[in-house]
Amino acid sequence: MSNNKYDIAILGTGLGGLVCGYILSKNGYKVLLLEKNAQIGGCLQTFKRFGVKFDTGMHYIGSMLEGQILHRLFSYLKLAEAVPISQLDKNGYDVFSINGQTYRYASGYEQFTEALCESFPNNSKDIRRYVQQLREIASASPLYNLRKVEDNVFIEADYIKTSINDFIASITDNTTLQNVLAGNLPLYAGVKDKTPTYIHALINNFYIQSAWRIIGGSDTIAAALARHIRDFGGEIRTNSEICEIVCNDEKATGVTLKNGEQVEADYFISNIHPQATINMIHSHLIRKVYRTRILNLENTISNFTVYIKFKERATPYLNYNYYFYENEDVWTANNRRKGDPLKSYLFMHQCAENHQQWAQSAEMIGYMHFDEVSQWADTRVGHRGDDYTAFKRATAEHYLDVLEQSFPGIRSAIEGYETSSPLTYRDYTATKDGSMYGIIRDKSFPTQTLVSQRTKIPNLFLTGQNINSHGILGVTIGAALTCAEFLGLNKIIEEIENE
Ligand SMILES: Cc1cc2nc3c(=O)[nH]c(=O)nc-3n(C[C@H](O)[C@H](O)[C@H](O)COP(=O)(O)OP(=O)(O)OC[C@H]3O[C@@H](n4cnc5c(N)ncnc54)[C@H](O)[C@@H]3O)c2cc1C
Repeated sequence: MSNNKYDIAILGTGLGGLVCGYILSKNGYKVLLLEKNAQIGGCLQTFKRFGVKFDTGMHYIGSMLEGQILHRLFSYLKLAEAVPISQLDKNGYDVFSINGQTYRYASGYEQFTEALCESFPNNSKDIRRYVQQLREIASASPLYNLRKVEDNVFIEADYIKTSINDFIASITDNTTLQNVLAGNLPLYAGVKDKTPTYIHALINNFYIQSAWRIIGGSDTIAAALARHIRDFGGEIRTNSEICEIVCNDEKATGVTLKNGEQVEADYFISNIHPQATINMIHSHLIRKVYRTRILNLENTISNFTVYIKFKERATPYLNYNYYFYENEDVWTANNRRKGDPLKSYLFMHQCAENHQQWAQSAEMIGYMHFDEVSQWADTRVGHRGDDYTAFKRATAEHYLDVLEQSFPGIRSAIEGYETSSPLTYRDYTATKDGSMYGIIRDKSFPTQTLVSQRTKIPNLFLTGQNINSHGILGVTIGAALTCAEFLGLNKIIEEIENE
């Protein structure tokens, strides 16, 4: 038993755990963060191959101009200076190739509207209405505007109970425009007739205002947060896998680590996926109904990624993200099944410095369901066998063939590549089946698929992408919601305002 008793033990050091660690240690709580991996950060982790660093789960961020929401949050978290960023092309930060035609999203509401009106001159009214509604949805949420709240107001019910495709169809009859408006759905792994409108609206509104790459890797975010937590007196321990959350008859009392060590605390915040968290609790305090509800929630799809290192000065740097859809219906992308050819992907160059001329590296991400790799489900990183290596190689070669069709000659610019599969994400972040964004929100079951930061154990809370929403903004706001259980939301908003 450790002699150190902490006010709050935070289980996992993903973005949610780190932001909670920052807010609570800044406010005088004695916090301990426990991470199973050697590297902190969860999806903010990076790895090095061929001498370059690759991101694994944070490729671009939005709203980073002075006064915009993420800039305000980054200022509060003392990240604004610690994390260098580079703005994506204002005339087209997201470029879509859909059924052979190219479209672009431009930065700024007016520019976004004009760019789409160029492609759809007969739909300018629809496009304006879309932008106006997006702004209305986003501005209605006090949380996403850092306004003080009376109670836990989130977002208007209509936008929780309407699917994205229905919302977009209510804006325009033009099916091509509908698909372009839904074109960046890999950012939230949207599911037709299921994913609620607010997820799309908050994310699009976030990126339309301004879109940025993180220079030199997303681990800079994790490293800066960790530095601040330690400066505030907090502790972070890596290689500390938690196996059990121990409870007495009333509350949680400690956690047991894989090496048998026990750590005590007054409160616990789990940044581990809620399903994995529940599986670590054997107490009667977690009733069967709650356990079953959480364990039965469906998770978003996973992905297969090719991490590409280019030869020196072999390919110009693309200052935009490229979304490819072979067919017009972008919603069919996540129907891809075992053995199906790749018909959609997201391709992004990585940024090593501002005003970059040549690309050093890139990532090509395609959806993949876990069943494609389930035959290796019982294996672990680095020991999955030759047939798995052959599967990854064949999949990557197929991806690169498809990429070559949009970027002729790109194959000859490649020095080497690495890959990751749903198993990689499962093993590095402990999300079910390597799910990218955690639990799927369903407009037909809005309350059942929304996981609260509160659990049935009074001193155990949750944080991370399954609370509130995923992504840099969703997780940071979710962490504020979790910390509000200790400090009150308005106090946190006040602290942010005073930065
Ligand atoms: C491929 C991909 C691309 C993405 N791109 C973007 C993007 O461009 N922009 C954006 O804003 N968002 C992006 N996201 C989403 C974003 O990365 C996530 O929503 C966010 O980082 C998740 O943070 P989290 O706090 O929920 O925790 P996670 O990152 O899931 O971290 C959970 C942590 O808990 C640890 N843990 C798990 N089990 C245990 C245990 N038993 N004991 C101790 N520790 C444990 C894990 O090791 C991990 O460190 C992307 C995600 C993916 C997968």
